Amino acid sequence: MTEDASPKKELAAVRGTKDILPKEVEGWQALERLARETFELYGYRELRAPVIEATELFEKGTGRTSDIVTKEMYTFTDKGGRSLTLRPEYTPSVVRAIIEHRLDLEVEPLRYYYMGPMFRYDKPQKGRFRQFHQIDIEVFGEKDAAADAEIIEMADSLLRKLGVTGTETLVNSVGCRECRPAYSRALREAAGKRKSGLCPDCQRKAETNPLRIFDCKVEACRAVARTFPLIQDFLCAECRDHFGKLLVFLDIYKIPYRVEPRLVRGLDYYTKTTFEVVSSHLGAQNSLVGGGRYDDMMKDFGGPDICAIGFAMGMERVLSIAELAPPKRKFLYLAYLGDEAKKAGLEMARYFRANGVECLVEFKDRGMKAHFGRANKLQAAWVLIVGGDEMKKGRFGLKEMATGRQVEGAREELLAFLREN
Ligand SMILES: [Zn+2]
Ligand SMILES: [Zn+2]
Repeated sequence: MTEDASPKKELAAVRGTKDILPKEVEGWQALERLARETFELYGYRELRAPVIEATELFEKGTGRTSDIVTKEMYTFTDKGGRSLTLRPEYTPSVVRAIIEHRLDLEVEPLRYYYMGPMFRYDKPQKGRFRQFHQIDIEVFGEKDAAADAEIIEMADSLLRKLGVTGTETLVNSVGCRECRPAYSRALREAAGKRKSGLCPDCQRKAETNPLRIFDCKVEACRAVARTFPLIQDFLCAECRDHFGKLLVFLDIYKIPYRVEPRLVRGLDYYTKTTFEVVSSHLGAQNSLVGGGRYDDMMKDFGGPDICAIGFAMGMERVLSIAELAPPKRKFLYLAYLGDEAKKAGLEMARYFRANGVECLVEFKDRGMKAHFGRANKLQAAWVLIVGGDEMKKGRFGLKEMATGRQVEGAREELLAFLREN
């Protein structure tokens, strides 16, 4: 038997994916709850799109020359011969959904959030998975730079609630369709002169989309990229004005930032603002939040001409540095002795649960000592004792495990006791 065929390996989770076990899930739930609460304070509502989409959606949206589309997509042909892709990012799905359902004709503001898995066939490494999770927000139809500042402030507010410290906010403008062609020409020229110093991938990018050289992680390419001209010198009047206003609004929100002229982000669709929140507590993969404006995607998809801006937050990374208080969880363990007591116990459990008390009933015949041993191990807050004597009296015993305090009473009295404690 070869190693690959061993059942153990075959039945393990797929490389680059990971189980989120009950011990960790409390953190995830807290993050999801805080994100939901925060975004709804700004008038956002949840929009859930499917995990699979037509491959063309990402080619068109994310961009044919982006690393994501050229190297990292999970694309397959389904039984009907259609090319489908597990979404590598969320933005194109939202744009598609708005056009498909004509959400732009409704009264509600076009502000959406979403949390869920994304898929990229990337090299698995620390803090990076092939199935990873993102919190995503998008707002449409707001061209004012105040909207750009507001989403940056919203991301910052969520990170503060999560106890994330040591962050830095980087901002840039990548121009628009008016002013970027001249910058791309200048980049192509600069890259052409230094072509031998670039990796084969970037040599190709120098022809197709020189802006993407800034995404390369090869140190030699980064060194070359540092000699390239800066976008700021090429921005048109409108883009320059927009960027200037963004910085003013960030000051109003008291968000410290650093202008990073090489921040282009790995996507083709950005226009004007791009930003990133990075953490000093993480290594090379230090980006917690990344986003920007994409004013042309909707009309490029054949929809209405509506501008947009959004961001994505990496949930795994944020959770790895979040400081969340462990949730206080209290539950009651049912200890019953014999069949009749079991029936009475189940009724009690049903009554307590209906009144919001978590009850754990394990259907195993145990003696009282074994019940208490088990309840102790599980760290139950209370043990409800149902034996023959208790049933005859119609009164039950309840033990508070932390204090050893024991009370006796009818179910209503016990419920009152549980609520007080
Ligand atoms: Zn411009
Ligand atoms: Zn390179």
